[in-house]
Amino acid sequence: MGTMDQDILKVLYTEKQIAARIEAMGMEMYEDLKDKNPLFVSVLRGAFIFMADIVRACQVRCDVEFIAVSSYGNATSSSGAVKITHDIQQDITGRNLVVIEDILDSGNTLCFLKQYFATKGAASVSICTLLDKPSRRTKVITADYIGFTVPDEFVVGYGLDYCQKYRNLPYIGVLKPEVYGGNDE
Ligand code: 5GP
Ligand code: MG
Repeated sequence: MGTMDQDILKVLYTEKQIAARIEAMGMEMYEDLKDKNPLFVSVLRGAFIFMADIVRACQVRCDVEFIAVSSYGNATSSSGAVKITHDIQQDITGRNLVVIEDILDSGNTLCFLKQYFATKGAASVSICTLLDKPSRRTKVITADYIGFTVPDEFVVGYGLDYCQKYRNLPYIGVLKPEVYGGNDE
C-alpha cells in the first residue's frame, strides 16, 4: 500500500487477475507463433510492463523491439495525428510482427502503426492489447489478442498513466474525479 492508492476510486483488475489473463494469452499466442520467429514490438511507454510479462508468458523464440509514439491531444484523449519519437532499430522485411499495446482506444495509434510496419515490409502485423475499449473506436481496427474489454472509463496502472504518473501501480483502476482537477474532456 502506497500513497497512490488513495487516488484510486475503484480497482478494475487486480494484480492476480492480470497475471492469470496474461498467462492464458501467452499460451494462446504460443500456439499461433511458435513457428513464426515473431518480433514483438512494444509501444512505449504505456506497454512496457505488459511487454515484460507477455513475452515471458509466451515462450517462443522471438526478439523484441520498442517504438515510441506521441499523439496530439489532451491528457485523456488523443487526436488523429501520430508521430514516431523513437523508431525500431532493425530491418523488419519479411518479419511477423506482434505489436504489444496497453490499450486500444480510438484506434488511431494502432491504425497508424499497422500501416507503418506494412510499408516497411513486414510479412504480417498482428496486435496484442491488454485492454480494449471498443466504445471509443473511430478507426476500423480490431486486435488479434485482447486481455480485457473495458468500459468507457479512463484507467491507470500496470503501465498506463495519467500525466505520466500511476504507471507503477500493480493493478488497473479508475482515478477519483478530483484527481483530474476537472480540466480535461
Ligand atoms: P488510441 O490511439 O487508440 O486512441 O489510444 C492509444 C493510446 O491512448 C494508448 O496507448 C494510451 O496511451 C492512451 N489511452 C487511451 N485510453 C486510455 C486510458 O483509459 N487510460 C490511459 N492511461 N491511457 C489511455
Ligand atoms: Mg499513453
